[in-house]
Amino acid sequence: MDTIAALATAPFKAAIGVIRMSGPEAFSIAEACLRFPGSGRLIAEDRKRNVAFAYLHDRGEVVDEVVVTAFRGPYSYTGEDTVEFSCHGGVYLLDRVLRLLFSKGARQALGGEFTKRAFLNGKSDLTRAEGVMDLIDAEYSSAARAAMSELDGTVGNAIGEIRGQILAITAKLLAYVDYPDDEIGEVSTEEIDLLLTEALTRVRTLTASYGKGKILREGVRTALCGRPNVGKSSLMNLFAGENRSIVTDIAGTTRDTVTESVVFGGVKLLLTDTAGIRETEDRVEKIGVDRAVQAMEKADLILCVFGDHPDEQDRVIGEKALQYQGKTLFLFNKSDLYDAPLPAWASAAPSFRISAVTGDGMPKLEACLADLFATDLPAGSAVITNGRQYQCLCRIESALARASDNLTLTPDVIVSDLEEALAAVGEITGERVSDSIVHEIFSRFCVGK
Ligand code: GDP
Repeated sequence: MDTIAALATAPFKAAIGVIRMSGPEAFSIAEACLRFPGSGRLIAEDRKRNVAFAYLHDRGEVVDEVVVTAFRGPYSYTGEDTVEFSCHGGVYLLDRVLRLLFSKGARQALGGEFTKRAFLNGKSDLTRAEGVMDLIDAEYSSAARAAMSELDGTVGNAIGEIRGQILAITAKLLAYVDYPDDEIGEVSTEEIDLLLTEALTRVRTLTASYGKGKILREGVRTALCGRPNVGKSSLMNLFAGENRSIVTDIAGTTRDTVTESVVFGGVKLLLTDTAGIRETEDRVEKIGVDRAVQAMEKADLILCVFGDHPDEQDRVIGEKALQYQGKTLFLFNKSDLYDAPLPAWASAAPSFRISAVTGDGMPKLEACLADLFATDLPAGSAVITNGRQYQCLCRIESALARASDNLTLTPDVIVSDLEEALAAVGEITGERVSDSIVHEIFSRFCVGK
C-alpha cells in the first residue's frame, strides 16, 4: 500500500495550510523531515495520537515551523498511520513541503483517496463517506443538515434497521425450508406478511424522503416569467442579494435565459429569468418565447411576475403558467406604485404583492417558499439526497413488494426475493458493491479528502 499525501486545505494564500499524509510509511517519512525541540517526538510507541511542535527541514534548511498531529492506525480517519502538518499557508511553501514528502517516498493522493481508504479499512460505510462529500458541497443550512444525517450514521442506521428486518424474515423462512416438520420451522403467512409490510413501510418512508432530498441537493427549478419590464431581472437581483452563491450555466439553458442559484427562504432556487412571454411574429423574439415555455415546462416552481396595472395580457400569462405541473405563484410587483385591489383572476394561484425596489412583501414570499418546499429538516431525520442510494432503495422496495406478492408460493421463492433486497442493501452501505462503483463514487471527491 502506498503512502499518500495531499494538501487538505484550499490552494490559496491563508493563515494555515494543512497537508495530510497517510499510509505505512507516514511516520517514517514525517520523522525524516522533522526536528523536534527538547524532548518532543512525533508519537510515542504506546500513544494513539499526538500533537507536537516541530521544525520542518529540507536538506539541512529549516523550511517551516509546523504543528504535527500524528494518528496511529487504526485510530485515524483512514485507519492507517496518518500525519497532518499544519504549516504556514503560503502557496509556494505548501508546494515545497508536498514535494519534500514526495521525495521521501509519498505520492500525490488522488481525489477522495483518504476517504476511500477509510471505507476500504472499515472506518466508514458508503453512506457516511458520501455524507462527507455532501457536507463539503453543502451551500446552505438544510443541505448541510441532510449531509450530516448521512455522515453521523442516521441514514446508515435506518438502512441497517431495514436490513435487520429483512434478515429476520429470511431466517424464519429458511428455518421453515430446512425443518418444515419441526416446531422451530413454524411460520405463518400472516406473520411473514406483517413483517414484510413493516419493512416495506420503512423503505417507503426513505424513498419518499428523496423528493425533499433531491430539492435539497439540486435546488428548486424556478422559472421567472412575465411580460417585459414587469421587474423580473430586478427581482432576480433582489433574490440573489448578498446570498448570491454561484452563477451556473446549467446544461439545457440558453443564452437568453439566465440561470442563477440563490438561497431564498432557506430554499435553494435555480432561477431562470425567461424572456417575456407573449404571442409574437418576430422570429428572434419567438425563439425567446419558446425558451420561456420550455423553462416553465421543466420548472418545479413558476413565479409569474406582473407589473403595475395588470391587464388582460398578464391574465393570459398567469393562465398559461397554471397549465404546467410546477407550483405557480403570482407576484404582483411594483406595489410601491400600485395599491388598487388585485384583479379577480389573481385568486387562481397564491398571490403576493411585492416590490423589487423596496423589498415590500418579501418576508411573506419567503415564508411561503419555505412552507411549499419544506426543506427545514428536524434534527435526526434520515433524508435520502443521494441518487445512487435512492436507486438501491427502489430496488429493495420492488424486491420486497414482489416477496409480498409471492406469499402464497413456496418459501424459497420468497427467500430469493429477500436475497435480492439484501444485495441492494449491501450496495447502499458498500458491503456488496463493485469496484467500479466505489471508484466512481470516490473519484468525485476533492483531492485531500
Ligand atoms: P424585466 O424586463 O421584467 O426584467 O424588468 P426589469 O427588472 O428590467 O425592470 C423594468 C423597470 O421596472 C426598471 O426600470 C426597474 O427599475 C423597474 N422596477 C422593477 N421592479 C420595480 C418595483 O418594484 N417598483 C418600481 N417602482 N420599479 C420597479
